[in-house]
Amino acid sequence: MPHKITLIPGDGIGPEVSLAAKRCVEATGVKIDWEKAEAGSDALEKTGELLPKATLDSIKRNKVALKGPIITPIGEGFRSVNVAIRQALDLYACVRPVKTYPGVKSLYKDIDLVIVRENSEDLYAGIEFEEGRPETKKLIQEIEAQSKKKIRPDSGISIKPISKSASERIVRFAFEYALKHGRKKVTIVHKANIMKFTDGLFLKVGRQVSQNYAGRIDFNEAIVDNMSMQLVQKPNVYDVLVLPNLYGDILSDLCAGLIGGLGIAPGANIGDDLAVFEAVHGSAPKYKGQNKVNPTAMILSGVLMLEYLKEEKAARNLENAVSEVIAEGRSVTYDFKSDPNDPNIVGTQEMADAIIKKIKN
Ligand code: NAD
Repeated sequence: MPHKITLIPGDGIGPEVSLAAKRCVEATGVKIDWEKAEAGSDALEKTGELLPKATLDSIKRNKVALKGPIITPIGEGFRSVNVAIRQALDLYACVRPVKTYPGVKSLYKDIDLVIVRENSEDLYAGIEFEEGRPETKKLIQEIEAQSKKKIRPDSGISIKPISKSASERIVRFAFEYALKHGRKKVTIVHKANIMKFTDGLFLKVGRQVSQNYAGRIDFNEAIVDNMSMQLVQKPNVYDVLVLPNLYGDILSDLCAGLIGGLGIAPGANIGDDLAVFEAVHGSAPKYKGQNKVNPTAMILSGVLMLEYLKEEKAARNLENAVSEVIAEGRSVTYDFKSDPNDPNIVGTQEMADAIIKKIKN
């Protein structure tokens, strides 16, 4: 029986990198029946909706999706479609492996850590009050009355909810992930010294959950600013990091920088019985339609998808093929090379072709 998978090409560079990933996944020999679904600005043009119900229904039906990046205009217009998908399907765990492959431009070797980011709450909950509006003024007055602290009247307000239940399930997810993947240590990252009732709660719950894994998985704690420095100085000592939503987002990009850039950082959004696989990077609109950007992050997201589908052999074959092509450096995209005129630079689909040729089934 083929696996039925929802394929969301996305917008910007999404369709190009999704096509490359789809071709590579198919070349492993795993049988997949793709169901194409729209989301993002292209969907808006065609259907009048950014995130059509049919797309969410398709993911719910098939339980697994491979998704290209989708643009989010800053500060105005629609909220992120990406965040909307994660929230609508309760994909509460964002898993982002961070690994150095030989041949990448990086100051480091041997990084092999995994970011587990809480995906459903924190400042990404989308509860915001715009500066100057009557409801914002009312809220400011209410907060001042309750907290006995002053807020400037010309403020905008974003709400940061962090719950016991969501903290507990994400930390448990991180420990279970560590056990399942033979990892040794979970580090919880927070700013509990300042935000005592949100990050403080996340940390408190994390400490409690960690006790169930004592003797099996080590546990330690780090404040997010210090963690940022530690990751730049000695990333090799970290294993699994578990973080609230915002810090997870920021440190994912930092970690992508440690392993050669956004072009190679894959990801997965996982819920209790649904999963959407996507690169860490966005839709890089300036490169749209140029067949130029690196398909590796999307292809490695395909590797994560194959693992999730329990197609372990195909996952390893595809990852090894990616690794070989990067190590040889003869058919890679521009971001692998310092000299933009390097004759070994190829386009998105040509790098995918080179990977497909290396897959040993
Ligand atoms: P971005 O990740 O799209 O691009 C930033 C830069 O990283 C690019 O200019 C490019 O230099 C590099 N880059 C990204 N992907 C690359 C690739 N595959 N190969 C080579 N280089 C690559 O970030 P941005 O410019 O901040 O965001 C653009 C849009 O994407 C925004 O609207 C943002 O909201 C959205 N976004 C979507 C997702 C998602 O779909 N999950 C994630 C992040 C950002």
